[in-house]
Amino acid sequence: MTESVTNWAGNITYAAKELHRPRTLDALRALVAESPRVRVLGSGHSFNEIAEAGEDGVLLSLGGLPPRIDVDTAARTVRVGGGVRYAELAREVHRHGLALANMASLPHISVAGSVATGTHGSGVGNGPLSSSVRAVELVTADGSTVTVERGDERFGGAVTSLGALGVVVTLTLDLEPAFEVEQRVFTELPLEGTDAGTFEKVMASAYSVSLFTDWRSPGFRQVWVKRRTDQPLPDFPWAAPATEKMHPVPGMPGVNCTEQFGVPGPWHERLPHFRAEFTPSSGAELQSEYLVPSRSAALVLGALDGIRETVAPVLQTCEVRAVAADDQWLSPSYDRDTVAVHFTWIEDTRTVLPVVRRVEEALAPFDTRPHWGKVFTTPAAELHAHYPRLHDFRALVRDLDPRGTFTNAFVRDVLAG
Ligand SMILES: Cc1cc2nc3c(=O)[nH]c(=O)nc-3n(C[C@H](O)[C@H](O)[C@H](O)COP(=O)(O)OP(=O)(O)OC[C@H]3O[C@@H](n4cnc5c(N)ncnc54)[C@H](O)[C@@H]3O)c2cc1C
Repeated sequence: MTESVTNWAGNITYAAKELHRPRTLDALRALVAESPRVRVLGSGHSFNEIAEAGEDGVLLSLGGLPPRIDVDTAARTVRVGGGVRYAELAREVHRHGLALANMASLPHISVAGSVATGTHGSGVGNGPLSSSVRAVELVTADGSTVTVERGDERFGGAVTSLGALGVVVTLTLDLEPAFEVEQRVFTELPLEGTDAGTFEKVMASAYSVSLFTDWRSPGFRQVWVKRRTDQPLPDFPWAAPATEKMHPVPGMPGVNCTEQFGVPGPWHERLPHFRAEFTPSSGAELQSEYLVPSRSAALVLGALDGIRETVAPVLQTCEVRAVAADDQWLSPSYDRDTVAVHFTWIEDTRTVLPVVRRVEEALAPFDTRPHWGKVFTTPAAELHAHYPRLHDFRALVRDLDPRGTFTNAFVRDVLAG
């Protein structure tokens, strides 16, 4: 069978002519054990070559395996298969009266692919999605199984692993009692008001807060405030409530987005911005994102304001979120409370790349870590300085994958040095 395999955005066509979809775990083990090079493709929502297996490699999907979602209500955990997406996981967890602590902007992405790249939502008290993971079960290069659990000294490298350790066949996640969230959108938050103190207050005003701007003028066009109904109603004096349903990308229909205007609803129907049954975001786009220490947020926003005439012409929207520090060695929010600045670009790579470089130059002074799953041009040698536990991750790769079966050019760059 020959097929063209691309990522969600369509900007990457993988070299592999076939996407292997084993239907049983034994078939997956056998395929891995007989293949010199293997990469897993999750739901393909990354914008770069992180999942590339190369011409001679095997590109593997777990989509052919029975979708496993085993909720343990007493332990408040769920064991989820490596191909399962957040939308189906969230529905099943909620059916049991339980919840995940947080979600990304969309529920369409696979759990294993998301935690592998450090995917996050927002909230000063919420770490990235990997923070929920308590155990990872991997099929390694010889087809055998290795489980790494929280508390194990290797755990810091095992979750946000860029797919470099093996095939993640299950993840065990922490759950909490189900909760309700209400979402309100405010418009026109002036940048002048976002001095360090005000910025911190805005970001901490609710469970999850996102700021959006098109950088066409100073300030933020929209503020999305997601409050747990078991927490106090925030005072939000900085901007006016929206009068119509909003989409973060100007001109896109609000109907694609989760309920607004403070209507309470289940956590998984409010924490993402985009509804599972609609195309998320604009659908025709590239994305980049840079994670900086939250103490530098005001300076970073000032630096971006200084280049907004370069950024705005190729931008659909820019989102600013908060991510609490975590302990995954390769997490872009490792060991520091973080502000994440995301860019949804137009889908023209050639036009966008020079602007991406300009943004990277502007953010270079701020100990900036790019999102592993999005477009960036920062040379690997420069990234190394930002990951103090990289040597531990290298050792873990040597230990679990000594022949480099799960290494590709992207991972080789990250590990080099
Ligand atoms: C519209 C849109 C909105 C987004 N919103 C957000 C957001 O709110 N926050 C954010 O942080 N990011 C966001 N992203 C980025 C996205 O979350 C990441 O790219 C994430 O990695 C996507 O998961 P995936 O399953 O598609 O992974 P893929 O792109 O398929 O793979 C990513 C990596 O995971 C590895 N992998 C996948 N499954 C396995 C497995 N079972 N075993 C081993 N390795 C595996 C792959 O080999 C690859 O290295 C968004 C992307 C899009 C397209």
